[in-house]
Order: sequence, then structure tokens, then C-alpha cells
Amino acid sequence: MSAQVDCIFCKIIDRKIPANIVYETDSVLAFHDIQPVAPVHILIIPKTHIPTMNDVKESELPLIADIHRAAQEIAKQFGIADSGYRLVNNCNRDGGQVVYHIHYHLLGGELIGGLRAL
Ligand code: 5GP
Ligand code: ZN
Repeated sequence: MSAQVDCIFCKIIDRKIPANIVYETDSVLAFHDIQPVAPVHILIIPKTHIPTMNDVKESELPLIADIHRAAQEIAKQFGIADSGYRLVNNCNRDGGQVVYHIHYHLLGGELIGGLRAL
């Protein structure tokens, strides 16, 4: 699925670098964030390399639905579906994006405070 050289998340998809994977389908992978900011902090990514939210093509929109489905499932898996969670995408510089392979942060396990940089 079109891995991008030097993309850390593509390397995780290809098992070239390790990650603590919690969920996987044909289109989506999810794993623990290496620097968690909440008791549950999972990153959900498409297996297709898409740099940012701005780059999602019409034909790729089903991947965004797949990510939301993954968030539902992972929230259940971690017992935070009812207590609640936040699903966050950071886009480009002002959004605080650091890794340019689109990803969503699933945060929960405590009251998530005001909007803060991730
Ligand atoms: P961004 O700021 O781009 O939305 O978030 C990138 C996230 O990726 C950060 O929360 C950071 O801790 C996480 N991250 C960066 N490199 C790695 C890595 O190699 N493994 C894992 N599991 N998470 C990473
Ligand atoms: Zn990538």
C-alpha cells in the first residue's frame, strides 16, 4: 500500500520499526503513542500514506470512516466507550502536526482537559 520512504508510520505498518499494536484491519492500524498524554492514548492511521487531512482524496474518504470504526472498537476494547474519549487530528503547523502520515489520536481514561497541543 504505497509506503513512503522515511515515513515513521509507514515503517510501523511494514513492521520495520516496532510499535505496540492494538488493532489492525486491511486498511487501518492502531498502536500506543510513544509519548502518551492520557491513560489511553492510541494513534489510528490508514495503511495508505496520506500526508495530511488536506490530502485526503474523494476515493480515500472510506478510510476516514474506517478510522472512526476503529475508534469505536478500540474505545470498547479499552473500556472507555461509555466514560468517553476524544478523537483528534492535527493538520499542518498550526494544528501541531509533527508526523506527516495522517493519524488520529484517541484519548481517554481521564477527563481530557481543554484543547492542548499533542
Ligand atoms: P502529531 O503531533 O503529528 O499529531 O502527533 C504525532 C504523535 O506520534 C506524537 O504524539 C508522538 O508521540 C507520536 N510518535 C512519534 N513517533 C512515534 C513512534 O515512533 N512510535 C509511536 N508509537 N508513536 C510515535
Ligand atoms: Zn507514511
